[in-house]
Amino acid sequence: MSNTVAVIVRDDESIVLVDAGLSEAACREPGKNVGHVRARFLSIQTTPEDAVAIQLEKRGLRRENVKAIIATHLHFDHVGGVRDFPNAELIVSKEELDAFSWRRTDLGYDKRDLKLEQRIVPVELEDGAREGFAKSLDLFEDDSVHLLDAQGHTPGAIAVAIASGGKHFIHVGDAVYNVKELDLADCGLISRFNRWDKSKHRACRDALREARKTTTLVPSHDAAIFSTLPTVPAKGVARRA
Ligand SMILES: [Zn+2]
Repeated sequence: MSNTVAVIVRDDESIVLVDAGLSEAACREPGKNVGHVRARFLSIQTTPEDAVAIQLEKRGLRRENVKAIIATHLHFDHVGGVRDFPNAELIVSKEELDAFSWRRTDLGYDKRDLKLEQRIVPVELEDGAREGFAKSLDLFEDDSVHLLDAQGHTPGAIAVAIASGGKHFIHVGDAVYNVKELDLADCGLISRFNRWDKSKHRACRDALREARKTTTLVPSHDAAIFSTLPTVPAKGVARRA
């Protein structure tokens, strides 16, 4: 299973990530860091070089310049890597942060991920409906990034819309595990197994179905979408954003 992290390089060279993948430590020793049962159940196969901080540095992007990480949700494979970015604040929906503290039955949450985290910025999606989603929030004044309500997989999941170079993407996290799921009457098996709320998940999928007519949807774990992502040369190395 792939794990896609969106990388937004701003004009002032600061970097914003959407999710952060697994930490360097977890990529080096998955069992020891995310739990042996979980690592074996999910068959996590990583090398140290898979950590997002390392991948960025190989492309000339310094981890110190990552100023914000937007969490689509707080499952460990999306925020475990936050600890590798010392200057980043973690932007997360208030509902998701609340759920992280009370939902003990969700095995995707790992309390260790935010234990030492001092830089959490909970946000409320208060800008109203947008692009077929019930709630939204503009993150920057230039309208380059906005958050969309994608509740269903978890109580406070968000999707992140990114405008770049005349193109438009929505990083959907785990709202669906692959784009093809949207063609099914219900959803894929993994989505069904992992969703928190059936009707909210259905509403989210309806919004995604509409959105994909005009934008590129990027699920976190869909390797098939790689070919649709922009590739930008950076210091001689192809970079995917
Ligand atoms: Zn998830």
